[in-house]
Amino acid sequence: MTVHTGRHFLQIPGPTNIPDRVLRAMDMPGLDHRGPEFAEIGFAVLSGMQRMFKTKQPVIIFPSSGTGAWEAAIVNTLQPGDKVLMCETGQFAVLWRGIADKFKLDVEFIPGDWRHGADLEQIEARLSADKAHKIKAVCVVHNETSTGCVTRPLDVRNIMDRLTHPALLMVDTISGLGSMEYEHDAWGVDVSVAGSQKGLMLPPGLGFNAVSEKALAVAKANPGLRSYWEWEDVMAFNKVGTFPYTPAINLLFGLREAIKMLEEEGMENVFTRHKRHSEATRAAMKVWGLETQCQEQGAHSPALTGVRMPEGHDSDHFRKVVLENFDMSLGTGLNKVKGKLFRIGHIGHFNDLMLMGTLSGVEMGLDLAKVPHRSGGVVAAMDVLKRREQAAVPKAAVA
Ligand code: PLP
Repeated sequence: MTVHTGRHFLQIPGPTNIPDRVLRAMDMPGLDHRGPEFAEIGFAVLSGMQRMFKTKQPVIIFPSSGTGAWEAAIVNTLQPGDKVLMCETGQFAVLWRGIADKFKLDVEFIPGDWRHGADLEQIEARLSADKAHKIKAVCVVHNETSTGCVTRPLDVRNIMDRLTHPALLMVDTISGLGSMEYEHDAWGVDVSVAGSQKGLMLPPGLGFNAVSEKALAVAKANPGLRSYWEWEDVMAFNKVGTFPYTPAINLLFGLREAIKMLEEEGMENVFTRHKRHSEATRAAMKVWGLETQCQEQGAHSPALTGVRMPEGHDSDHFRKVVLENFDMSLGTGLNKVKGKLFRIGHIGHFNDLMLMGTLSGVEMGLDLAKVPHRSGGVVAAMDVLKRREQAAVPKAAVA
């Protein structure tokens, strides 16, 4: 077994690095979740998550992975036979669609090449052809973690409004929330789905739904079967700061601390930081002569970059070389892009020098794995990061 020293570099796009402050906040003894102290933490995270989603509407917190929050969005608002419009932006769109299939929804799946955001023209065409308003929901993945392409939920909302189509807009922002702008209310999103282990810098284990008034009304009238995921039950308990079952208490302590950290930095600064790191990564790739998986101008994810391997080179072999030599984990290519790309996560608890370490490991790995490239990508990334006028100024430092 190889012994590595220093910290492992976890550069996958989730689970992300967990700040020591968050780890320490979770290091707590058991607490009576029905006792007087619990409500304080309950109210703190519920209101904190409203600020994260930019909503005045309820946010439901489940002890679950993101997949649970996907299922919750579906079972509360839809029933078997309901028609939904989904878009094949990548593996996570495919997986969400799989859940819809299991619940026997009638899925219209707009095909995609996994190198672009959702096809807005196709969304518009399918909705405008749906004169009888059979489509009950339009579901899009905000930040497609398998590719690094972004779909702007507001673009979809604008299409729906222009056509006065009454479907619900559901958005998976599992790897978007906390790493890029998100506005549940202003963008007219009906159900937002998120998870704890990405931009929120926590371990996996919390799933979130932010829910519009319209989605709540649809859920109230929906006779479809559900129990654990029932929004109304959770919301009833949330009124007094508690949950209907034993919540993931220590993760909630971590969540309160993570929100505090993000707000101390200032959300605008958090988003700027992610954009700079994405820009610097792409500057390195340009010099290396490697292609981004995302081919849509303006749709590159601030949270991760999907990097295509040159023909004849296997990305999993490259990842193995990097892991063995430099103790760094890079994201694998999923499903139909397996072996064709690797993903660099620059999301969550992350800074300029962590990015430089990451890109150095990639450049050395390219050499060792004999992947054709030009050297000097790291220097190009440094040039981007040296432009200090773009660097984030933490709010706490200004005050
Ligand atoms: N959606 C997106 C965009 C994701 O990135 C992920 C996980 O990486 C999921 C859904 C599924 O979440 P989980 O693995 O927490 O169930």
